[in-house]
Amino acid sequence: MADPEAYEILIVRYAHIGERFRHQNFIMTDAHDTKMPIDFFVWIIRNENRTLVVDTGFDHAEGEKRGRTITRLPREGLAMANVDAAKVEDVIISHLHFDHAGTIDHFPEARFHLQDLEMRYSVSPHMCESVLRHPYSADHVKSMIDALFEGRVAFREGDEEIAPGISVHLIGGHTMGIQCVRVFTKRGWVVLAVDSAHFYENMESPSPFPIVYSVADMLAGYHKLKRLAQSPQHIIPGHDPLILQRYPAVSPELEGIIHRLDVEPRG
Ligand SMILES: [Zn+2]
Repeated sequence: MADPEAYEILIVRYAHIGERFRHQNFIMTDAHDTKMPIDFFVWIIRNENRTLVVDTGFDHAEGEKRGRTITRLPREGLAMANVDAAKVEDVIISHLHFDHAGTIDHFPEARFHLQDLEMRYSVSPHMCESVLRHPYSADHVKSMIDALFEGRVAFREGDEEIAPGISVHLIGGHTMGIQCVRVFTKRGWVVLAVDSAHFYENMESPSPFPIVYSVADMLAGYHKLKRLAQSPQHIIPGHDPLILQRYPAVSPELEGIIHRLDVEPRG
């Protein structure tokens, strides 16, 4: 393995849902069900040698189907960080759920790094179960198959290096083939858990998120995330509004939209 290069990591928020409750975020909740909002993100990993994007979010049409409004298209958020989606060459797809693998057509030059198991799962007999199928969009899966037949899918198996200082790691649990992303930064190894841990509390309690393929694998995944990261503070969950409170914005104008994860948490 080559010596790791250090990267900047940006988190880009493209949607927020305030009307969400604790029972939607944990398998087991107490009787006092209170509000617990959720954010939706894509991520940028970059240095002077390369720029990668993690996940592609979803668009207005998909949001309408599911009664969810996005604040901006993921590519519009990326553009605010001077990343042109049309020119991005490498996109890591954590898993194929609707809020992570839409807008594939906004990345016409990209190669998609996806776990073999996730592609298989998305077209497997498990999709006969509406509970497991619901978070997937057939259009998104078909777009990935189109990309595959254009030679633009790089299948990953288990734990693999993508570039010096960037690797993906099979976690499973939430879906059969979900992967996290480990990135070397000036503060050490940061792990983008994405939906391997939706909220800090899922992982810290631990108390699994209710959209799940295997509870046992999800719990084992929380331990694997901890092994991969420099410290528990180096793990970034996939949907937690606390992230933008804990990490600084890239500039005052982009507060609440684009924040940095390669620097120490604020305060
Ligand atoms: Zn998911």
